[in-house]
Amino acid sequence: MLTVNAIAAPSATEPLVRTTIERRDLGPRDVLIEITYAGICHSDIHTVRGDWGKVPYPLTVGHEIVGHVTEVGTEVTLHAVGDRVGVGCMVDSCRECENCLAGHQQYCERGNTQTYAAVDRDGTVTQGGYSTHIVVVEDFVLRVPESIPHEAAAPLLCAGITTYSPLAHWKAGPGKKVAVVGLGGLGHMGVKIAAAMGAEVTVLSQTLSKKEEGLAFGAKHYYATGDPATFETLKNSFDLVINTVSAPIDMGAYLNLLRLDGTFVSVGAPPEPLPIQVFTLFGNRRSFAGSSIGSIAETQEMLDFCAERGIAPQVEVIGADEVNDAYERVLKSDVRFRFVIDIASLR
Ligand code: NAP
Ligand code: ZN
Ligand code: ZN
Repeated sequence: MLTVNAIAAPSATEPLVRTTIERRDLGPRDVLIEITYAGICHSDIHTVRGDWGKVPYPLTVGHEIVGHVTEVGTEVTLHAVGDRVGVGCMVDSCRECENCLAGHQQYCERGNTQTYAAVDRDGTVTQGGYSTHIVVVEDFVLRVPESIPHEAAAPLLCAGITTYSPLAHWKAGPGKKVAVVGLGGLGHMGVKIAAAMGAEVTVLSQTLSKKEEGLAFGAKHYYATGDPATFETLKNSFDLVINTVSAPIDMGAYLNLLRLDGTFVSVGAPPEPLPIQVFTLFGNRRSFAGSSIGSIAETQEMLDFCAERGIAPQVEVIGADEVNDAYERVLKSDVRFRFVIDIASLR
């Protein structure tokens, strides 16, 4: 066992604190990663605050992890000491179900092993990336191209893949009109990736306060959802709407924005239900869908795509003692556009 420095939530209501956690001894196919940066995803906040259900406290969250390999198990072939690597939202899956066999580990029928708050193969509770080291089985470790700025690479492991996957699946590209709802961590990556894929991108944000940045990320249009006229102007407009909002929204108003055969995909995960009036789906033969992160192969494809196109998250790097303040700012939509913890501050 390796005892390493970490940040953990003691309960749903207390601030996160510095602590130590244990990492398992290296198995033959495991990789030991010295973490350099860890992104703060809104899912970390939903989880530690108990929004989504019971939590095994104390818990270390973080599933946007980048670092270097410092040791490999005896049978490891995919990674070598010194490689720059990443770990996202899952660290294992059953490897036997129909979805795993088809390469969709994120949709493992037995539930993939999440990077934190899940029961690992050895029966221990997984602990996430707000820590100095992590041990992960080699095929759930991604290669992070050196051309991606180091501190900006971490958010690709969740915000990047979670937007890339539905954009690729629903074929965002030339001739397609795509709207991204919410310009936070996921949203700003959705805009950059959809624009790089060739789609005509519109940002739907609560206000116009981030318009300049949104357009610089590649959006062609930018509207405030706080203005009811937006929903009139944009009725029947989009082939694809990617919703990244962490809170409930008025589904009727957003579904009406879809043109014929358009799809509204929620990646945002509010704890409350999103009620739908089915007649809104009848119009324009609309679809309502959800999407969960992406597979390991797709995550590698996204990392390589971002490296080739020169796309990277816009991050604000913070120290370990600023995480609680960062959480409050994320909750107030005051993030431009992803907080990343410099793990050197934990050593
Ligand atoms: P984030 O950085 O906080 O971004 C969410 C954005 O939504 C905010 O910046 C804000 O954008 C908008 N927003 C927030 N509250 C709102 C409200 N009450 N009404 C309208 N708009 C609001 O969060 P994130 O890290 O991108 O995560 C977004 C959501 O995706 C979370 O629920 C997270 O758990 C979920 N998620 C899902 C997956 C998946 O696999 N499906 C993966 C990762 C995250 P504006 O200021 O521009 O309006
Ligand atoms: Zn996440
Ligand atoms: Zn499976």
